[in-house]
Amino acid sequence: MAKFKEAADRTIKGIFVCKRCKSKQRTSAQKVVLKTVKCRNCGSKVFRALRKIKVSGK
Ligand SMILES: [Zn+2]
Repeated sequence: MAKFKEAADRTIKGIFVCKRCKSKQRTSAQKVVLKTVKCRNCGSKVFRALRKIKVSGK
């Protein structure tokens, strides 16, 4: 059962990148959507998921 929880955590929690200063922050998608997470570096509340980054071409 622990394994299942881990898997669920991985889908919910992820690494997000601050859109302003591009520092990485590990948080949950829910927090990003609700904007309860704040960037340590610049205090911005705008993040994007790291996973979404797919640079085409390389
Ligand atoms: Zn920032």
